[in-house]
Amino acid sequence: MSIKLRPHHLLCTQGYSGKGYSNEFVENMNEVVRRLRTEEATEVTIVYSTDDLCAHCPSMEGTDLCSTQEKVKSFDRKTAEYFNIEEKTYIYQEIIQEIDNQMTPERMDDICQGCKWYSISSCKKNILAKKTV
Ligand code: SF4
Repeated sequence: MSIKLRPHHLLCTQGYSGKGYSNEFVENMNEVVRRLRTEEATEVTIVYSTDDLCAHCPSMEGTDLCSTQEKVKSFDRKTAEYFNIEEKTYIYQEIIQEIDNQMTPERMDDICQGCKWYSISSCKKNILAKKTV
């Protein structure tokens, strides 16, 4: 079954290193990330809303409502704009390769500045290291 992801979670799933908002969040994130990192072609359906990671997050207050709504909507908007991400189904391993190839340190700072995990996780290093062009 396709995994529902909001645009900026195409970045978080690459930087995630086991830390999260609660035990339940981490357990779910571990399983989703394990699939994304070990399977060859995982279908992900992009939604401009709360997704399968938000569903286990203590910050989710309702459908399409996060306690840091303005911030996460900005992460989504910028990710979608920089990489032309639409609300449709992609193969995760293909879309992240396209994103990583077009990523620059400046773009990443612009999208992710303001995220509390950005300075302590390996997001930037992981994503920029996977550029193939
Ligand atoms: S902080 Fe907000 S956007 Fe991030 S996983 Fe939790 S509910 Fe979703």
